[in-house]
Amino acid sequence: MTVAGLNGAQTRIHPKSLVNRLTDSKDLPGKKPATQAVTSGRRKKWTGAVVNPPVWRASTHLYDSVADLRAGLSANEDGRFFYGRRGSPTQWSLAAALTEMEPGAAGTMLYPSGLSAIACAMLAVLKPGDEILLTDNSYDPSRSYADAFLKRMGISARYYDPMIDSDVSSLFSDQTKAILLESPGSLTFEVQDVPAICAAAKQAGIVTLLDNTWATSRFFPAIKNGVDISIVAATKYIVGHSDVMMGAATTHDKYWTPLRRTAQQLGIVVSPDDAFLAARGLRTLEVRLKQHEQSALAVAQWLKSRPEVGKVLHPALPDCPGHEIWKRDFHGSSGLFSFELADGDEQSRAAFIDALTLFGIGYSWGGFESLALPVDPGKHRTATEWTMKGALVRLHIGLEDPDDLIDDLAKGFEQFNRISS
Ligand SMILES: *Cc1c(COP(=O)(O)O)cnc(C)c1O
Repeated sequence: MTVAGLNGAQTRIHPKSLVNRLTDSKDLPGKKPATQAVTSGRRKKWTGAVVNPPVWRASTHLYDSVADLRAGLSANEDGRFFYGRRGSPTQWSLAAALTEMEPGAAGTMLYPSGLSAIACAMLAVLKPGDEILLTDNSYDPSRSYADAFLKRMGISARYYDPMIDSDVSSLFSDQTKAILLESPGSLTFEVQDVPAICAAAKQAGIVTLLDNTWATSRFFPAIKNGVDISIVAATKYIVGHSDVMMGAATTHDKYWTPLRRTAQQLGIVVSPDDAFLAARGLRTLEVRLKQHEQSALAVAQWLKSRPEVGKVLHPALPDCPGHEIWKRDFHGSSGLFSFELADGDEQSRAAFIDALTLFGIGYSWGGFESLALPVDPGKHRTATEWTMKGALVRLHIGLEDPDDLIDDLAKGFEQFNRISS
């Protein structure tokens, strides 16, 4: 059996007798999402007789001959051994899976974090003198990257109201080359009119990038809705177990080469161990997302019934700006949302959160466990004003029984009321 890295027809990872009889996922188009989550990215030649592609820990890939080494230079694509930085079946399989799960996609690049995916995707489409428009509810590190790093590169950033629609075109200047969308925003959950913004951008030759971490392609097929580059912090729902950092950017034909080249020029690569864990998470994405959805809705509706609660900012509930757009465009809702403690202040909000025993206090989300976080979106806004009076709490609803989570939150309200009165 030839295990060394070779190209084309000579690649033989496993003896033929050990190759399984399952069909390659690329020959299984049109299957339902649950089936795709299980089958996508699987290739006989990458897995052989086992279910998952092994962890190929490698820097050097070995060639059979000088001629073979030379031939390796001719094509730059996943599936061809070259050198560790271009990955191995472990990373290729994950990237292929994410591509297959995004209708209209040509390819996916993997990055060592979600933020790295956002940063590198912006670099792939911008040059000095250009301007990028960012939604005012953008993930704060995306803002910092634009305001500090891109500015230093001579690229300017301007912010827009997340609830803008095709009127976004009134903001375009000759310098505007890209728009960052995030829908829903990960603190405040405004659902953007992505198709309208992307159609206006397309007409003006402006590239659109969406932070699709909340929905993933499962609940919002971004490219089908007009987005050019769809980005997820795979750290969240793809990995799903709070144990790996990873990002992914998926795009269609037009931007695939610049996206791939830029990542390669920057030396971006993810470890095979991390790719293995992310792929393991991906296989259960469908069942996890459905449970996150169901439990988060149960908790959100219960919160709505509480006297201490003002607005519940969950895209599937009417309080949330853009709820109608969510109903129109999305196939579901995930486990992250915020709610307002109507008469809450810093102290009573802290008392509420500190009283919780099933909710961890921490950043990130998308794992199997529940989290609570105090959030103050007003601090991060420049194009719009945050007018909500109460104190905002963001919850990630994990895979615990929602009845237990509700009991825990009830204890939080007891403490909140004790401090408030
Ligand atoms: C967490 C997060 C990111 C960044 O992902 P990391 O893997 O933590 O770098 C980007 N966007 C959103 C909406 C996020 O929640």
